[in-house]
Amino acid sequence: RFAFSDTLNRLPQQFFANLVQKVQKLKDEGHDMINLGQGNPDLPTPEHIVEELKMASDNPEYHKYSPFTGQVFLKEAIASFYKSEYGVDIDPETEVAVLFGAKTGLVEISQCLLNPGDLALLPDPGYPDYMSGIALANARTAWMPLMEENAFLPDYQKLDEKDLEAAKLLFLNYPNNPTSATANQAFFDETVDIAKKHNICVVHDFAYGAIGFDGEKPQSFLQSEGAKDIGIEMYTLSKTYNMAGWRVGFAVGNRSVIESLNLIQDHMYVSLFGAIQQAAEKALLGDQSAVDQLVNTYENRRNVLVEKLNEIGWKVQAPKGTFFAWLPVPEGYTSEEFADILLEKAHVVVAPGNGFGEAGEGFVRAGLLASEDRLSEAAERIGKLGLFTK
Ligand code: PLP
Repeated sequence: RFAFSDTLNRLPQQFFANLVQKVQKLKDEGHDMINLGQGNPDLPTPEHIVEELKMASDNPEYHKYSPFTGQVFLKEAIASFYKSEYGVDIDPETEVAVLFGAKTGLVEISQCLLNPGDLALLPDPGYPDYMSGIALANARTAWMPLMEENAFLPDYQKLDEKDLEAAKLLFLNYPNNPTSATANQAFFDETVDIAKKHNICVVHDFAYGAIGFDGEKPQSFLQSEGAKDIGIEMYTLSKTYNMAGWRVGFAVGNRSVIESLNLIQDHMYVSLFGAIQQAAEKALLGDQSAVDQLVNTYENRRNVLVEKLNEIGWKVQAPKGTFFAWLPVPEGYTSEEFADILLEKAHVVVAPGNGFGEAGEGFVRAGLLASEDRLSEAAERIGKLGLFTK
């Protein structure tokens, strides 16, 4: 009956919808599925944060509208967090935007900076939601392949000079979903130089900022000199504190870009429930030992999965961060074919790499989002298929 907008029709298909359906069907048939396909943290939110929310919910002030750009105490907590974690100075008043999860910011940033037809540089493979923002803005994309031989970092020297000239926005994400790669200071310094030279705004998605393994603390993009002149960083409490359902994220960095994000937030959302903002303050400034435990848990799971997969003859690299493993598909299969075999025959769910972009072909992504026992069992079931030679 209704003719929906071109904007709506431009939204990309949800690649994984099909997979979710297949998994449900097998589950309904009574199979014991080990689901490593999605990115939903399986650990609980630390208790002291939940307690703070319960207490704060009784405050009637929070039952009213919160200040449009977020509570001052939360913005101050975010600034202190960045200072203590990364040594980065952030002005709470002008350099912080409080977001409904990092996702809203990652989508809205395209509305802030791109006119129809403008160009954005996106990582391939990459988190699909950057593309949603580009589609809503009716903008164009140039892909930056993340290749294994370049440690899954984009090689700026290989990008088309015309694209660098035309681009207004560049998305990066380290520790990286889906490849689990991390970035070092030298790469971020190079990014700042490129962005300055070509006048591109950099958006660094730091969703997995807390999750680095082998004692390596992930680097914030804002630690690079001059980063605040040309970009922002998005952070989320979803992964660091297992608060994905709470929808708390924020952007920090370049003042004029932050102002533009705040303007869109103001027009669309007003602000998060005040009690959630108080609990978010507690998360950022309170006891961080739960974060250390969480990183340990993922690292132990990683060790189990990598060891067991190598034991069955599937030669895989150990992830350096995030809660994903990016696993090479054996020769003779596409990513989708191989993911289908694991799904149908081993009842182990992984995400085919091509769902994250063309350069993701040849890989599948497995989440470290099940217990060590279940991960071990997943590897055993895969081993029994006899697809690998030891
Ligand atoms: N960025 C990346 C790379 C992610 O993997 C995710 C969640 O899966 C997000 C952003 C979204 O975070 P949030 O829950 O804050 O919207």
